This record gives sequence, C-alpha cells and structure tokens, in this order.
Amino acid sequence: MAGNRTFSMIKPDAVAEGNIGAILKMMEEAGFRIVAMKKTQLSKATAGKFYEVHKERPFYNDLTDYMSSGPIVALILEKDNAVADFRKLIGATNPADAEEGTIRKLYAKSIEANAVHGSDADETAQQEGSFFFAETERS
Ligand code: ATP
Ligand code: MG
Repeated sequence: MAGNRTFSMIKPDAVAEGNIGAILKMMEEAGFRIVAMKKTQLSKATAGKFYEVHKERPFYNDLTDYMSSGPIVALILEKDNAVADFRKLIGATNPADAEEGTIRKLYAKSIEANAVHGSDADETAQQEGSFFFAETERS
C-alpha cells in the first residue's frame, strides 16, 4: 500500500554547507520515497507567505530573511505515517534539544538555521506541497 505524504525543505544553511546529499540519504534510509523535488530560492515575500502562520511571532522577520538568503530544496516525501515519522527523523526545532542521530542534531546550526522543515499535520503537508509543486509534478 502506498504511504501518505509530508512536505520538507532542506533549508539555506544545510544547502550552503553542502549537506543536501547527506540529508537526502537519511530520508531514503529512513524509508521515505521522494515523490517530488526541486532546488529553488524563495523571495522574502514568498518565504513570508509560506510562514504566514508565524507572522505575529517575534522571529518572523528574521526567519523570512533567513529562508530567502540562499537556495533551498523542496520535497514531497511518501511513507506510512509520514508526518509523524518525519518529524521524529528531523528532531526538535532547537538542535540543542534534538535527539542523537536526528537530522537537526547532525546538521542544524541554531534554532533558526535548523537544516530542515517538516510539515506538522496531514493538512499542512498537502497545502505546503501544493505551494511548491504543480498537480502534474506531484501525482
Ligand atoms: P519547521 O516548521 O521549519 O519544520 P518546527 O515545526 O520545528 O520547524 P516552528 O515552530 O514551526 O518549528 O517554527 C518554524 C521555524 O521558525 C523553525 O524551524 C525555525 O527555523 C524558526 N523558529 C522557531 N522558533 C524560533 C525561535 N524561537 N527563534 C528563531 N527562530 C525560530
Ligand atoms: Mg512548523
């Protein structure tokens, strides 16, 4: 049976450090199938739209500056229990709190430059995947 889906980004810090390959390998070894993938750079406005739910938070302006500071890799990933299992693989938002062996523990630099994004629910996974990929790219 095909699994369900989550959406991920490899963030600018991890791309700049040359960690795309290592992070993709961790995703695949954990059983995630890459459904869609693209390298692109967000404008400040597009980053602002993607993170709109955080627009009242004190870190919003810095976050959208950071997310538009360099290229990212956007991904739709498929696996049973994709959203929860992927959040487990990436670890806590703050790498200082992330478990050993998680992507953020290995590759994140700070609570802001934290290497990867993972959707927080099935509904947001669907919205975020559609934000980056056309229907024909994700079927
Ligand atoms: P993501 O949504 O990127 O997977 P998350 O779900 O673990 O991360 P959120 O609370 O959704 O965390 O925050 C979104 C992003 O905003 C974080 O990944 C991080 O880059 C940034 N962020 C969150 N909290 C802070 C903070 N206190 N200071 C600076 N940046 C923060
Ligand atoms: Mg989040």
